[in-house]
Amino acid sequence: MQQKLSILGSGISGLGSAILGVRQNWSVFVSDSHSISPENKKTFSEMGIAFEENGHTLTQLLESDIVVKSPGIPNTASIVVALLEAGIPVVSEIEWASRFTNATLIGITGTNGKTTSTLLTYHVLKEAGLNVGCVGNVGVSFAQMVAEDPKDIYVIEVSSFQLDETFTTRFHIACILNITEDHLDRYEGKMEGYIDSKYRITRNQTSEDFFVYGGDSDLLVAESAQRTLNATCIPFGFTANGDQYVQMTDHGIEILRNNKKNTIDMNQFNLRGKHNQYNSMAAAVIANILDVRNESIRESMSSFQNMEHRLESLGKVNGVEYINDSKATNVNSTWYALESMDKPLIWIAGGVDKGNDYADLKPLVKDKVKLIICMGLDNIKIHRAFQGDVDMIINTSSAKEAVHVASRMAALGDAVLLSPACASFDLFDSYEDRGRKFKNAVRSL
Ligand code: ADP
Repeated sequence: MQQKLSILGSGISGLGSAILGVRQNWSVFVSDSHSISPENKKTFSEMGIAFEENGHTLTQLLESDIVVKSPGIPNTASIVVALLEAGIPVVSEIEWASRFTNATLIGITGTNGKTTSTLLTYHVLKEAGLNVGCVGNVGVSFAQMVAEDPKDIYVIEVSSFQLDETFTTRFHIACILNITEDHLDRYEGKMEGYIDSKYRITRNQTSEDFFVYGGDSDLLVAESAQRTLNATCIPFGFTANGDQYVQMTDHGIEILRNNKKNTIDMNQFNLRGKHNQYNSMAAAVIANILDVRNESIRESMSSFQNMEHRLESLGKVNGVEYINDSKATNVNSTWYALESMDKPLIWIAGGVDKGNDYADLKPLVKDKVKLIICMGLDNIKIHRAFQGDVDMIINTSSAKEAVHVASRMAALGDAVLLSPACASFDLFDSYEDRGRKFKNAVRSL
């Protein structure tokens, strides 16, 4: 009898899972608590995929052999609770897709830097001529690529929500870039829950596999030492050490593996900031494990272009540089943005605060920022945190207004940095919308 797959959520991962289900000859049913986009409905109809929207029919879902759940739906959602109580396996799209491929899987997770590191790793491997795909939050889903365009190697950006429902997925190379506070709302305010979820990336690894992690992080060093990890562990960082490690030195990226030391010269490195040096160390060691030559790693890293909204320089207007870092939605990513600046700074910050503790930013703000422009509906926490550290804090409530004020206050040689440390939903649809509106405002100066 044909096996039954149900999918909760019709977003990118739901669509990919459905397509893979059909290809594997499963009977597929998609159920969404909201409306389904007209394009997806069309695709489902053309492929003979049954669907429902604006609610879930439990009786039908209870007939499933397996349920794939969108990472946006928490395990506490009543529909998930009911399915689990009935003994039906509920898995993530990564788990589902990994059951239908024997390819080499590289998983990259962390609080910050996932997309950058995933794209950089993909770029380096692709330039080296490997048959590699880039999936996860970036573009197409893992399931869809397995169904439609299979590869030998996948570089997968995995969030903790996706890792939560993986069970058998085995990553040949697993990477945790960093872990700092974020998303604690999904883990009952407990950091342990968030950390456990990230470490699920190592779950099915064997001694033939590799675990690459941020070696300057006390948290990651301690957690990695106390857990039973079967893979070869390789820390990366400025202070990383041990039998195998990756270290950023004055000469470039130094990789010690199997008693052999390799140095990749990074003089032409064009990604800005210390955080990108971390991302590059991670990408370099992953490529090294897959036997990519040093020279090829060096060349491809030099030609990598970072994506929109991540420390994206918009050039100068009247001698003032404008930088769009709208993707910085938490304190840690803003810390790296401020750290990387070498000009007197006007900092545009604010939005929806996710329980931020601004203490870590204070020394950098004191040192580098002359003026803070708040761009949000409720700016009181920013005022309280930094009122003694800068000359002035000004409230604004749109990107246009913020840019306008910045341009009036800036002096020749200053930089204006949008790096909000907050989510965007008070004034904008998304961080992309916020970044684009900022860029438009700068362009019309
Ligand atoms: P993610 O996919 O994990 O959200 P991105 O690569 O999209 O990460 O970057 C998100 C934000 O974090 C950007 O503002 C970026 O400049 C910053 N960032 C990138 N890499 C790191 C890192 N390794 N550590 C801290 N912040 C980072």
